[in-house]
Amino acid sequence: MNGYSNWLEIDRQVIIGNIECINQWTGVPMMAVVKANGYGHGLTEVVRTAVEAGVRYCGVARVEEAFELRRAGIDIPVLVLGYTPDERFGEAFAQNISLTFFQPQQLDVLAAAAREAPRPAKIHLKVDTGMSRLGAPPELAYDMLQRLSEIENVEVEGIFTHFARADERYAPTTEWQLRKFTDLLAEIESAGLRPPIAHTANSAAALTRPGANFDMVRVGIALYGLAPSAEVELLEGMHPALSWHARLSHIYVYPPGSGISYGHIYTTQENERIGVVPVGYGDGYRREEGNIVLIHGRRVPVVGRVCMDQLMVRLDELPEAEIGDEVVLIGEQGTERIAAEELASRWNTFNYEVVCGLSARVPRHYT
Ligand SMILES: *Cc1c(COP(=O)(O)O)cnc(C)c1O
Repeated sequence: MNGYSNWLEIDRQVIIGNIECINQWTGVPMMAVVKANGYGHGLTEVVRTAVEAGVRYCGVARVEEAFELRRAGIDIPVLVLGYTPDERFGEAFAQNISLTFFQPQQLDVLAAAAREAPRPAKIHLKVDTGMSRLGAPPELAYDMLQRLSEIENVEVEGIFTHFARADERYAPTTEWQLRKFTDLLAEIESAGLRPPIAHTANSAAALTRPGANFDMVRVGIALYGLAPSAEVELLEGMHPALSWHARLSHIYVYPPGSGISYGHIYTTQENERIGVVPVGYGDGYRREEGNIVLIHGRRVPVVGRVCMDQLMVRLDELPEAEIGDEVVLIGEQGTERIAAEELASRWNTFNYEVVCGLSARVPRHYT
């Protein structure tokens, strides 16, 4: 055993295998999207693993995440996909971090920071083709590229957009967004303004729409072996890289009528053998009722309210369970399996939120 009360196991070989499957499928370079602590899998370790698999670009949401990668000695290109406050432009360029640019109001800030930068300041222009979130309207893109080309020491490395509905079988929205982007590319190409890296595809598009690959695909959820939605399947050979484990910390038999945990929302009906698991909502588990965990390869019900650091399980069907036994919250045990998607449906959310919600305090163990 490893000395942890609850921990995540992340299989680096599985991540490498997933990346290889996707690379083979798309045939274009991949940006590994590692925002939110590598979707809960651990920011720097995921990037190191992706680099081992041949990935040469990664994407984060915030500039702080990019700084963390640089502090860890990771020197591959990093793009901040989201908004960066004016005050951080200089630091970012000094560390060779590429920024997403989308508002003409930041042109002066960009020009000033680029002037001070020790090397060309790299940016990607983000265009909003229908997500209605971040991005310049396509009508402004041509003009912005022209103005950007006139700023000293700025290198417009890429241009991109993001799909709103690529994870659905319903295709018209994605096709319409794709057409807007392609039209824009044609327009800027003929003016000699097309940046070298055009990219649009998230995992869902990379798995289902070869026409959206362009020069690079931005893959998040799929590289961790999780499907973007119930309507988009992973490729053969792809598997979830993460599992969640804990150890039974206490077992006690309570007489009938004993209230279990906060609020006594569960009361024993007979003599009941109750086990304690050192996992709670402070780790990213949820307080919803009806949770299930695996012990000795069997499905065991969680009873009573989930606390910040602990939860209770009913062990009557499992007389052989002992203190110290392994509990699986996500993953396989024996022939049973709890997928992130199963927790997601119980928690009324989707797999992305389950893994991103795994708290920083849970130790990550890499195999
Ligand atoms: C998060 C994100 C991605 C990755 O999305 P997945 O569905 O996890 O593949 C790609 N592009 C942008 C702009 C993102 O914010």
